[in-house]
Amino acid sequence: MNATAKQPKLLKKHDTAFQVEWKDGHVSWYPYTYLRQMCPCAECAIIRHKGRDVHSLFAPQGDGDITLIEVSDDIQPLDVQLVGRYALQFSWNDGHATGIYPFEVLRETCPCPECAPPDQKSPIQTEENN
Ligand SMILES: [Zn+2]
Ligand SMILES: [Zn+2]
Repeated sequence: MNATAKQPKLLKKHDTAFQVEWKDGHVSWYPYTYLRQMCPCAECAIIRHKGRDVHSLFAPQGDGDITLIEVSDDIQPLDVQLVGRYALQFSWNDGHATGIYPFEVLRETCPCPECAPPDQKSPIQTEENN
């Protein structure tokens, strides 16, 4: 993946998901529950890696068991701030605001079927097969 792919062209808040359009033309949709669960802060990383070897903490972000983070269905970002030119900081309505999401990590954890590793199920259900 080249550097252009990790630079956002457009950032947009929607009702239940955050949209990032990248400079390479790819569009990522992050459902807020997913985004909150993959919060990159140390506190959340430790929860996600509960019971695992400490070295797994240094695996790529989004690793660990995101379902260990309890999130209500109505999770919403109250505020989204740019951190320099490299990251976004979300302030969630559950009071959590310490997570800084580098664009590089966001791109790597894009939940679309195209980006998801083949051995992992995508959290987004496509409606095409219904
Ligand atoms: Zn966190
Ligand atoms: Zn994608």
